[in-house]
Amino acid sequence: MTHSFFRPPETDRYALRNVTVPTCLVEGALTDSRDDLVRADLMLDRGRIEAIEPAGRLPAESGPDLDGSMVLPGMVDCHTHLDKGHIWPRQANPTGDGAGASMATQRDRQARWHAEDVRQRMEFGLAAAYARGVVAIRTHLDSLAPQADISFPVFREVRERWAGRVDLQVSSIAPLDVFLTDEGRRLADTVAESGGRLGCVTRSTRFPAEPMPPDLDEALVRVFRLAAERGLDLDLHVDESTDPRAGALIRVARTAVAEDFAGRILCGHCTALALQDDQTIEQTIAACKDAGIDIVSLPTVNMYLQDRSPSARTPRWRGVTVLHEMKAAGLRVAVAGDNCRDPFYAYGDHDMLDTFTQAVKILHFDHPLGDWIRAATSSPAEIMGIDRGVLEAGAAADLLVLKARNYSEMLARSQFDRTVLRAGRAIDTTPPDYRLLDELMSPAPA
Ligand SMILES: [Zn+2]
Repeated sequence: MTHSFFRPPETDRYALRNVTVPTCLVEGALTDSRDDLVRADLMLDRGRIEAIEPAGRLPAESGPDLDGSMVLPGMVDCHTHLDKGHIWPRQANPTGDGAGASMATQRDRQARWHAEDVRQRMEFGLAAAYARGVVAIRTHLDSLAPQADISFPVFREVRERWAGRVDLQVSSIAPLDVFLTDEGRRLADTVAESGGRLGCVTRSTRFPAEPMPPDLDEALVRVFRLAAERGLDLDLHVDESTDPRAGALIRVARTAVAEDFAGRILCGHCTALALQDDQTIEQTIAACKDAGIDIVSLPTVNMYLQDRSPSARTPRWRGVTVLHEMKAAGLRVAVAGDNCRDPFYAYGDHDMLDTFTQAVKILHFDHPLGDWIRAATSSPAEIMGIDRGVLEAGAAADLLVLKARNYSEMLARSQFDRTVLRAGRAIDTTPPDYRLLDELMSPAPA
């Protein structure tokens, strides 16, 4: 069934000779190269990378010559919404903007998100991601009552089932002011019981039209304290808006410093920052640096939702945050897939290689590509605190082998014919058939 261009030997020990790897992902082994990419031989043994050698070092009988094919480590998607995924056929977003997405998702969630529905859609998303060579995912789960009590138990079972194939992490997502109520305290307990991250969106249900709700600081302090009391990391949706007045990111950073928060903090989106003046951008990035905040940009979803208007007005900006400036200032930055075939994003296929390819074009990661591939591999792995995303001796032989020999070929042509190795063995790269979801997709009851 697989459409992979290359089949490796079906033995425990073999070499992938004469492959091309990103220099930034082969720590130590081949660092004399000044180019973005370098030729190498990889020796694989019993599911692990045994050695990475300069190309030509390993003898011909050790394994196939890949004639320059690129090898990447299994990819890492640190910001997704597997619980929302694939509801588009039954719950579209006719306006295509953020407000329409929130309304449509709420309608679908309240009517349809029983445990089996959430489970089947999560499983579908994971099967797609696995087939494309994604090895780890963090998902947010919509957490407004009563959904947390439905989705978190499903997530824990799914995490168990997928352990070793796609390593799963979880974060809550709820409006910020929920954490000023007892529901927020209970949600923090549910997150802690699930080994998750405490997450919210920097919007308030009490002031839905306000980019900077008056209860912002009070609620942020509450979120930080609920997390600190339980030893939880934070994962926040921040300033996902085209409104330049949305400036919660610097408040998050200042709260982290004031509270002397010891956990990790990941902030997603931060799109409004790109519409603020240079001084505000500089101050905000500096505050994030002080607070040790990591940033994830969701470029495909941002470009889809941001700057959309109901008339046929052409969007005027790309919708993404100032990721180059953040990286230059020393922040750890990643890109991730975010939504998939739901009211927040009508498209997507859980393919991090595709997300990176689009990110290059949306965010101008190119000329030179430099070490930007880190944003889809080692950086999200570091953000998630997992040992993934690099090519090194001892690492699992969970690899993408591409027909492309360089970034030009990789970024120009869809790499659907990639070979995905898990523990050194080729897996079936056929994505799950949409027909599997047909039973869940009947139109909403009136
Ligand atoms: Zn998100």
